[in-house]
Amino acid sequence: MMASMADTPKARTDSFSRDPVCGKPVDPNRTAQGYVHGDRVYYFCSTGCLRRFIAEPEAFAAETPTPPSDPPSRG
Ligand SMILES: [Zn+2]
Repeated sequence: MMASMADTPKARTDSFSRDPVCGKPVDPNRTAQGYVHGDRVYYFCSTGCLRRFIAEPEAFAAETPTPPSDPPSRG
């Protein structure tokens, strides 16, 4: 068995993107469903999620939704 050298280094991003619609982690390097909204690009696991996002970008573009009730931090 020949010692094969490492394959061509893939320029993969260090941070995974998350599907803002369903919340699934998506790999921007492998997924083709990308959509530019505002100042960033969103990736989706499927065209279905992409279409939902395009329908209401602002509904999903928001970052991690903050919980309605935040526990009082004592300090
Ligand atoms: Zn999805």
